Amino acid sequence: MGVPGNFADRAPDGLADTELFAVDAYRTTFEARVLEVDREGGRLRLDRTAFYPTGGGQPHDTGTLTTSEGSLEVTGVRRAAGLIWHSVDGADLPDVGIEVGGEIDWVRRFQLMRTHTALHILCGVIWADHGIPVTGGNMEPLKGRLDFPFPAMSADLGAKVEARINDEIERAHEIVVDFLPRNVADADPALIRTAANLIPAVIDPLRIIDIVGLDRQADGGTHVLSTAEVGRVRVTGTESKGKDNKRIRLEVVDA
Ligand SMILES: [Zn+2]
Repeated sequence: MGVPGNFADRAPDGLADTELFAVDAYRTTFEARVLEVDREGGRLRLDRTAFYPTGGGQPHDTGTLTTSEGSLEVTGVRRAAGLIWHSVDGADLPDVGIEVGGEIDWVRRFQLMRTHTALHILCGVIWADHGIPVTGGNMEPLKGRLDFPFPAMSADLGAKVEARINDEIERAHEIVVDFLPRNVADADPALIRTAANLIPAVIDPLRIIDIVGLDRQADGGTHVLSTAEVGRVRVTGTESKGKDNKRIRLEVVDA
């Protein structure tokens, strides 16, 4: 499926055919073959998958894998030593070589995409207005938080940030997935700001999420195609987590 603003042709060899979520966040179904089965661990590997594995602050997808024998619930997806394992419910795991049809839970995934993009908008706004980089964060569907090394935080910061985020959402910035060679990425001021140069050099090219005109960062997650798809954001809390560490919490709601 062709997605505008998607530079899948610059992806590392094979990635676009194996880690489908990396090049097309809107893909919900796929066909695959079982490559490896861990019966004791209740998990299996596929030759390709649209299931996002927990990483980069974004939780894994859920969904189903269907064979001629029936359906298995996917309850967890994790990357171990670079390989993606799907944890499934049920005793009857398919054999190696069996064809499966996969379908991700789109409601959960799309909520996570909106939330992940909302957090990048927050990063972009804090950098543009205060020149302060993000230092940590986490998310669940429609809820997230980021930490910033603010020396002090004014009482009305939350309300100001909320208004700024919603302005940027309304501008409907395009969001582009790109893959940049390391020598290019390591010289990009926006990526230096987000400390992309600290990512191990063996990761080449770097996957970049570009909220055009607002925020660029190295990122493995799934994002919406336009900031307008986020909906609206409510800043639900600003907390001090100690000297030079302030936490901003947000919720994503429908527009
Ligand atoms: Zn991210």
